Amino acid sequence: MSYGKPLPVVDPETRPFWEACREGRLMLQRCARCGHTRFPPTSFCPKCRSGEHEWVESRGRGRVFSWIVVRHPVPREVYAMEVPYVVALIELDEGVRMASNIVGIAPESVTAGMPVRVVFRRATPEITLPLFEPEPS
Ligand SMILES: [Zn+2]
Repeated sequence: MSYGKPLPVVDPETRPFWEACREGRLMLQRCARCGHTRFPPTSFCPKCRSGEHEWVESRGRGRVFSWIVVRHPVPREVYAMEVPYVVALIELDEGVRMASNIVGIAPESVTAGMPVRVVFRRATPEITLPLFEPEPS
């Protein structure tokens, strides 16, 4: 069965990120000059413009910064079985924000500041998506 939903495009800048996701690791870029951690991957540091960076592994822990609940499937044939679902901005402990889905909880139970942790869901042989679920208390 093919995966009908839109998927990220893997390019040279994001390839290390997606390769790590396939191995169950969440990687962030850190500027080799000023130490600024950034996401999504870019060629140049937004703080100091350096093109030098290293990849560091995120703890995969963070908090819900903001979210919406999607109730109307668009396109319908792709998302009809999924709604309602949560699209959220997660603020990771490393200070970056990442757009993702929150799974493993009823959408109406999501709260601001809720602690979450990353889980990996394989979409295709190439793409494994980092999603977030509530941190077990
Ligand atoms: Zn920098």
